Amino acid sequence: MFNLDQIWINAACPKCNYSFEIQIIDARLEKLVYCPNCKCSIQLKDESASVHTSTKNINNAINELNKALNISFK
Ligand SMILES: [Zn+2]
Repeated sequence: MFNLDQIWINAACPKCNYSFEIQIIDARLEKLVYCPNCKCSIQLKDESASVHTSTKNINNAINELNKALNISFK
């Protein structure tokens, strides 16, 4: 079985817009991460539970996760 948790996805810092990579497991576990550029803390949220519900389609999972992350970046 393919391990989605190990996939790296792009995230953008809500403050400085710096683009960096996180692993899906970080979002699934709603970890607190730090922007490598401005050092602000970012609380990851899997608000739509997309990681859990989209495992049938890896591409969907990544797209949905990106949407979830964007929604969380306020
Ligand atoms: Zn930043």
